[in-house]
Amino acid sequence: MARYLLTTDHFHPGGRGFTPPAAYEEKEVGAVVGLAAQLYDAVLDNCGSCRRQLMDLVVGDAASTSILIGWACLVTSETYGGLPEILLEGPDWPEAAFRPPVEFRELAAVYPEVGTASQEVRDRCLRLTEQERRNAAETAVELLVGLRDGNVDFLYF
Ligand SMILES: [Zn+2]
Repeated sequence: MARYLLTTDHFHPGGRGFTPPAAYEEKEVGAVVGLAAQLYDAVLDNCGSCRRQLMDLVVGDAASTSILIGWACLVTSETYGGLPEILLEGPDWPEAAFRPPVEFRELAAVYPEVGTASQEVRDRCLRLTEQERRNAAETAVELLVGLRDGNVDFLYF
């Protein structure tokens, strides 16, 4: 798999946890192949310097952001048998720790209709600012890493 060469000059192994987005799906929407998975691998290793660089690359590119969001929605949907209400509406109790921002919720809302690597999610990402894409992408990472640890209750703390 293609890997972005970062200034951090080291490597985080892939293949842990969820199957990464397929290269053909990434190409279909014009995303950087392997970038979302590379970010996930760095976050799994708690590597802040790679995470920062990779997150900047992801949110700088609407198509790659859409792949990351779609991947998180797919994994979450498979875990819970559909996207939980909290991802669409947000939590309805004030002390909730997991609070998906509106940018993520609006993208998740179109996900079930259109699938993982849809043009629709990408087009919506294109209309977001980089900061808005970052807000959504951080939630996607939180979901992927949280659910990977088998902690299916973390949405509801
Ligand atoms: Zn690293």
